[in-house]
Amino acid sequence: MSYLMHGRAPGEELLVGPQQRAWVEINRGAISHNAACLKRSLGPGCGLMAVVKADGYGHGAVTVAEAALAGGACSFGVATLAEAIELRQAGITAPILVLGNLQQPEEFRCCLHWRLMPTLSGLDQGLICSQVGAAGGRPLEAHLKLDTGMARLGVAWEQGPQLLESLSALEGLKVQGVYSHLADADQAEGALTRQQQQRFEGVLQRLQDLDLQPGLRHLANSAGTLSNRSLHYDLVRVGLALYGHAPAPHLAQSLPLQPAMAVRARVTLLRDVPAGVGVSYGHRHVTNQPSRLAVLGIGYADGVSRLLSGRLQVLALGQRLPQVGSITMDQLVVDATALPELEVGSVVTLLGESEGDQIGPETWGEICGTIPWEVLCGFKHRLPRLPSRGGH
Ligand SMILES: *Cc1c(COP(=O)(O)O)cnc(C)c1O
Repeated sequence: MSYLMHGRAPGEELLVGPQQRAWVEINRGAISHNAACLKRSLGPGCGLMAVVKADGYGHGAVTVAEAALAGGACSFGVATLAEAIELRQAGITAPILVLGNLQQPEEFRCCLHWRLMPTLSGLDQGLICSQVGAAGGRPLEAHLKLDTGMARLGVAWEQGPQLLESLSALEGLKVQGVYSHLADADQAEGALTRQQQQRFEGVLQRLQDLDLQPGLRHLANSAGTLSNRSLHYDLVRVGLALYGHAPAPHLAQSLPLQPAMAVRARVTLLRDVPAGVGVSYGHRHVTNQPSRLAVLGIGYADGVSRLLSGRLQVLALGQRLPQVGSITMDQLVVDATALPELEVGSVVTLLGESEGDQIGPETWGEICGTIPWEVLCGFKHRLPRLPSRGGH
């Protein structure tokens, strides 16, 4: 992203810094720390796949990938081909699994070219891979996905062994892993997870009986990884926990994870208003006393959901201030009456840590009826991603 603003004549450009209005700070050290914590918690011989889809859950995929490698991750999971190619073009050579579904021959040719592993859910995809690999002169490596109870991608688990047998007979294709995905691992109770694990184990047993090699066996997402070591197998696919967040409250204490993202904005205007003034669209807030209002240059077009209107708090100079009135596309208003020290240009923290206090995506998720995953990947690219200097 360029922050150059063009003046009227050459040489008159004004440089506007990325911290002019609002930005996202990423603490790479926290990501490395989280990767190392996760890695240490895994069963012996189990690898850590860092899931960096959706631009690393909004943190910046390449930044996250490099930090995760430094912390001991061995491979990456992405959703799309473009996400995988971005990593390759940044010089990342570790194995990459494409978790989304690919269908077209050119997509598989692209996998061969960039050394990406597609996910296979059926024989039709395997046949295309086989042709692509045979024509390309080296086998295309792929992982077979089993549906053990998610009803999204994957072959029905009962048909898994037969499919692997067929795939293994194809030239130009090499199945390097067999995996499945948990639908309910963040529930403490865990009946569905147990059923999925039993089905997964049933397939693995059958493969053994047939003398078929599954390659890397993997089942766990963050919740599975944190909740139960028996779900680890050869590899775990971790997203949310890598970014420093627990997938469920009962898993919050399992590892000392550090949140890696902070969202900050500057006060762009301060105004003193009397009692009885309606604030923002629809006057959903009316001042009940003479008030000092602070305008922040961040809004729902940046990822601060309008559903948070009037229910959000922000951190400023060691205090919590209430956001008031409707959040608008590019701006929101905070009641700063209790904080006379606040100035135009002061930095306010909407999400993340500031002066010993902290607001997490879990809180935003509770307020607007969603989950921390969606909050994190909801920050738009209008916000520059900057490395945090630490200690904010
Ligand atoms: C996104 C994803 C993950 C990571 O999930 P988290 O809950 O963020 O750890 C793992 N596996 C698959 C297949 C995914 O799509």
